[in-house]
Amino acid sequence: MKIFDLKKDVKACLLNLKTNHKTIGFVPTMGALHQGHLSLIKKAKQKNDVVVVSIFVNPTQFDNAEDLKKYPKTLENDIKLLKSVACDVLFHPTVAEIYAANISSEKFNFDGLEHQMEGKFRDGHFNGVGTIVKTLFEIITPNKAYFGEKDFQQLQIIKKMVKKNNLPVKIKGCAIFREADGLAMSSRNTRLTEDYRNAAPFIYKILKKAKKKFGTENATKITAWVTKKFKEHPLLELEYFTIAEEKTLETAIKKEKNKKYRAFIAVFAGRIRLIDNIRLK
Ligand code: AMP
Repeated sequence: MKIFDLKKDVKACLLNLKTNHKTIGFVPTMGALHQGHLSLIKKAKQKNDVVVVSIFVNPTQFDNAEDLKKYPKTLENDIKLLKSVACDVLFHPTVAEIYAANISSEKFNFDGLEHQMEGKFRDGHFNGVGTIVKTLFEIITPNKAYFGEKDFQQLQIIKKMVKKNNLPVKIKGCAIFREADGLAMSSRNTRLTEDYRNAAPFIYKILKKAKKKFGTENATKITAWVTKKFKEHPLLELEYFTIAEEKTLETAIKKEKNKKYRAFIAVFAGRIRLIDNIRLK
């Protein structure tokens, strides 16, 4: 596996591959890799000649200074994991290499997707995401890029950015990878204390029950039920639960036949914020 921390070096390597007509699959990450990340990389390996992974903890997408400071960094182990799935190239730049002296975001218009859910609770988050993904796409120039449905709103926003700007990259969504007890894998899970880690699978349990209820009950009633369940929970604090239409991410008022819906949730386990979602029928 080749490892680069400078833009010019990774660009030179990829230009050489592109000249030889190799297709490039790209998986952007913030590191502290787990099986969820590896599932994206494996998918990319199947469909592309070369797979590039980036590890970059992007400061402009954090609205919470403590979360940024404490974001887990496990580079040595990440490199081992990347080698175990035969990743071809790791791009691991510094903040200065990406932003120079100006650590700020471009302002994006994602046709309203950015104002829903995470956008309401994480100020400027999606401008930060848009800025870093656009920058990385310019550096890596991938044919395909892989994003997890774990961050479904982010996936839809990246698709929107690609469409609006006519970017020459195909965006592929990948299913959520879970622990055996149902908790969605996340780099932040390693920061949970034992009590919170034991409590956290409750989130997916509730999502599965909400999915079942969606067959017979309306979204407002299900939301009230979820809110009550978390009020009764001794450790977990609900930030939001929303049933939304997949394309617009707007809260579902009533079910319409030809639309697809998902339930989205954000929960605080102490100071650690966890998100998850589930497809509804
Ligand atoms: P992150 O390092 O958290 O920024 O995640 C990098 C990519 O991996 C994003 O596209 C995430 O949606 C995806 N990802 C993170 N966790 C999971 C998971 N449990 N299952 C599938 N994809 C994931």
